[in-house]
Amino acid sequence: MEHIEISPNDVVAMDAIAQGVFGLRITFVNVFGVVNANGTWTLIDAGIPGSASAIRTWAQKQFGRPPAAIVLTHGHFDHVGAARNLADQWRVPVYARPLEFPYLTGRESYPPPNPGAGGGLMALLSPIYPKDPIDLGTHLRPLDAGTHQNMPELDGWQVLHTPGHTPGHVSLYRASDETLLVGDAFCTTKAESFFEAALVQQPELQGPPAYFTSDWDAALATVRKLAGLSPRTVAPGHGKPLAGADVAARLRDLAAHFEEVAVPENRKG
Ligand SMILES: [Zn+2]
Repeated sequence: MEHIEISPNDVVAMDAIAQGVFGLRITFVNVFGVVNANGTWTLIDAGIPGSASAIRTWAQKQFGRPPAAIVLTHGHFDHVGAARNLADQWRVPVYARPLEFPYLTGRESYPPPNPGAGGGLMALLSPIYPKDPIDLGTHLRPLDAGTHQNMPELDGWQVLHTPGHTPGHVSLYRASDETLLVGDAFCTTKAESFFEAALVQQPELQGPPAYFTSDWDAALATVRKLAGLSPRTVAPGHGKPLAGADVAARLRDLAAHFEEVAVPENRKG
């Protein structure tokens, strides 16, 4: 998995998503950096395998130093690809919900994807889909749900348990400016569009990446819960960040039409 070539054209910085929130899209997945009150910053997610040097270059340019920690929304390969490499080099802890630990310690693989979810994404991803789960070794630390006054690496952010896409999936919410980093709880691009037109397409709220989502009832409950926060800015793992007065209404609309918009035909009912 170490030999994937990522072209500079596939790496796009996303600046000023919200106060102190920066993003980097590498091929079809985003990572984020959030600046903490004490001047450190925290990396949220770690891209596909092979992303380490792109993330390091961006980190140096954007923040001038390594992060204080890496926080994972969940353990899918396209969110943890560079985590081991970066944690080794930077010597920083990697936080995730304990429910994701089996998939981050090399013990278990996620349930097989749903190839019937459509979009041909399976075929597109198969060359980079790792056979074995990642092992983050001694870098891994448990991330509790709730607020983290005692954790400067997530100062001002609430960790929300948002299962459905995976069992231990988390989203991060900052109440002071209603900013929500959602991981794969939902997307702002269709899975079919992950590889095409990622730059030009208009952001549109979509469900979680369908062929990797394991529990659709929980995924709906999660979207309802996130809609209930009435966020002003949402930044997903896939697709562009979205901000504005209508974001909350659009999210409620996604929750209301979840079955038709998000749930694949072979998982309905
Ligand atoms: Zn995922």
